[in-house]
Amino acid sequence: MTELRWNPTASEWISTATERQNRPLMPTGGCPFCPGSGRVPNRYDVLIYPNDFPAFSSSPPFPAIENDRLYRVRKSYGKCDVVLYHSDHHLSVPVLPVPHLTLLVRLWKSRLGELRRMKGIRYVLIFENKGAVIGVTMPHPHGQIYALPFVPPRVEKELAAARAYLRKHRRCLYCEILKKERDDGRRIVAENMAFTAFIPFYARWPFEVHIFARRHLETLEAFRPSEEKALAAILKWVTSKYDHLYGFSFPYMMALHQAPVRGRHPYYHFHIEFYPPYRSKDKLKYMASVETGGGAFLNDSLAEEKAAELRSAEPRSAP
Ligand SMILES: [Zn+2]
Ligand SMILES: [Zn+2]
Ligand SMILES: [Zn+2]
Repeated sequence: MTELRWNPTASEWISTATERQNRPLMPTGGCPFCPGSGRVPNRYDVLIYPNDFPAFSSSPPFPAIENDRLYRVRKSYGKCDVVLYHSDHHLSVPVLPVPHLTLLVRLWKSRLGELRRMKGIRYVLIFENKGAVIGVTMPHPHGQIYALPFVPPRVEKELAAARAYLRKHRRCLYCEILKKERDDGRRIVAENMAFTAFIPFYARWPFEVHIFARRHLETLEAFRPSEEKALAAILKWVTSKYDHLYGFSFPYMMALHQAPVRGRHPYYHFHIEFYPPYRSKDKLKYMASVETGGGAFLNDSLAEEKAAELRSAEPRSAP
């Protein structure tokens, strides 16, 4: 059963998807995303694959539970795609060449354009979970795209802050942060013609890197071809640094933050956020009581120091 349940105490939707409990933990009969599995073409560059256990679908079942004034329930309408990064089982983002990653950026962009035309979709969340420590069941390099019938709460919160900032200061909040970070420089991790990667002043996770577009762009759809390439290059650069930091494939959660697909959001600014769970070579950061129960983050490191560590990790110049 899958349905959306409204939490009236937090004003947010919770997606229940019980089928997902049957997800295979580790593929037993070989990797379904590898050529030869019968489920994907024999060779592919980048590929959209329909999620076998979608939390959201275009023909969702009726909720199993009655809707009422207090406990609202909705169908889990939407779309869940798996984005396969390459037909080779071992090529993750830091290892893939920039021209190949450019194909990935273009696929994200074209898929966003398609999903925005789907009726009832409010937000397209492009993301990647990488590494077994954060629950990835399929090791074949892939990301995901969720087309959602609501704007996710974190993005909603950022939109409200950016809207308020624009109203008060007549400027884009993100353009201002970008300027401040570039003027200061201590928290910059990598930078090219079109993007700046840094650990923000307000980072919640020790190695949380944000990549801001230097031009004020609302979504991927406004990218020029040179910006698509530059995004591919900085993604490779940042993730390569992650892998070199402690000498192992660095797990992370990554989300693209862009404007919702309905309405106008001229105050919002395209960026990508990475949240790696490691805080040192052999220690993980947990979402403990203060984080989970209070929604307040305790970061036991300074962004300035962690940025210096990442900056000095190989590769120091654009790969
Ligand atoms: Zn595979
Ligand atoms: Zn801006
Ligand atoms: Zn954001």
